[in-house]
Amino acid sequence: MTKLNPFEVVQKQLDKCAKIIKLDSNVHEILRVPMRELHVSLPIRMDDGSIKVFQGFRVQYNDARGPTKGGIRFHPDETIDTVRALAAWMTWKCALLDLPLGGAKGGVICNPKQMSQGELERLSRAYINQVGQFIGPDKDIPAPDVYTNPQVMAWMMDEYSKIAGKNRFGVVTGKPLGVGGSAGRGDATARGGLHTVREAAKVCGIDLKKATIAVQGYGNAGYYAAYLAKTLFGSKIVAVSDTKGGIFSKGGLDPEAVREHKAKTGSVINFPNTKPISNEKLLELEVDILIPAALENVITGKNAPNIKAKIVAELANGPTTPEADDILYKNGVHVIPDFLCNAGGVTVSYFEMVQNFYMYYWSEKEVHERLKNKITAAYSSVLKASKEYNVNMRQAAYIVAVKRVAEAMKIRGWI
Ligand code: NAD
Repeated sequence: MTKLNPFEVVQKQLDKCAKIIKLDSNVHEILRVPMRELHVSLPIRMDDGSIKVFQGFRVQYNDARGPTKGGIRFHPDETIDTVRALAAWMTWKCALLDLPLGGAKGGVICNPKQMSQGELERLSRAYINQVGQFIGPDKDIPAPDVYTNPQVMAWMMDEYSKIAGKNRFGVVTGKPLGVGGSAGRGDATARGGLHTVREAAKVCGIDLKKATIAVQGYGNAGYYAAYLAKTLFGSKIVAVSDTKGGIFSKGGLDPEAVREHKAKTGSVINFPNTKPISNEKLLELEVDILIPAALENVITGKNAPNIKAKIVAELANGPTTPEADDILYKNGVHVIPDFLCNAGGVTVSYFEMVQNFYMYYWSEKEVHERLKNKITAAYSSVLKASKEYNVNMRQAAYIVAVKRVAEAMKIRGWI
């Protein structure tokens, strides 16, 4: 099977949305391609004394609504088309959350698992040396993504500050707390997702105190989703999984105890008093809410007819294929699309930027409150558009986001 080119997928999604909203053809043409991209070569001194040259990218997709924002990915399979696609999705995600930001993404083709800390630090600093002129706190603000973390962000901020000759904390987000990070960033993605679940439960008439939930993936997104659903809603987490398999308990799991078990043994499997369950079966469980929080393309045309959950909350990016999407919609499953459901992370990243500009830091409680307001408003605007245009929640999210970007382009006189 030929692998889908992610950038072609992005263009197709936009074309579909453009047709529904009768988007101005000039706006459509501009939005089909990135505004700017930079390709760089990064010569790095490796620990054995040799020099290795890595390829890096930064793509600024559209900045009509404000400075661009998006993560930097270190990955051996990185391609410019993946970066372009992710930059486009960041544009829609920021617009949907009504953040005053455009979308961007960056990447370096490398395998961090085979690199020492010293090599990673030199690579992170070299990246900033090469793209430093292209980014900036009021221009384009990177963040962590796959295989980049708060430490990488701290090195990048430090390098940028050295070049600028002054502290420039606001140049990247997702930094450690001691150097301008924000309270509440750790669980922001799951917490934001659960706010959308709370709204969806109202629409579907589900009492969250009595609801059953299955979570696929038990990393940052999945663990916090399970933990917060139990502690905030009182819901019952009946199944969770990771790469090695899943566990099921009719009476409900203690998410914190499962996390400790995974930390000790490397997996959620074999947690006492649970039954084993495969990742495939977990998705088809008779539960109220299903939270895919691991990989893309897990709900397909094949298993979508067997999904019994009333709500699918996509914390993972791209867990549902377009074919599955249509089946779920036809079957009345309420899907909270990824770029709405998992937008809590970028929202708190935006709060981090604001705090860096102010040099005044908010309490965790303030961050939680502001996140709740932002993402709840975004959910309402998507629900409204889905009713107005009689489309599923994903198409509705595109409609809201693309309209906002198009409006900014028109107001600025680009069209
Ligand atoms: P993570 O690496 O912390 O955790 C991933 C989890 O998924 C692990 O428990 C892993 O064992 C599990 N997993 C991997 N392959 C699996 C498989 N085949 N079957 C079942 N489980 C599998 O990653 P994360 O940060 O939690 O991200 C998970 C998803 O959420 C990704 O799609 C990511 O893009 C998305 N997301 C995360 C954030 C965030 O802030 N962490 C933000 C937006 C989107």
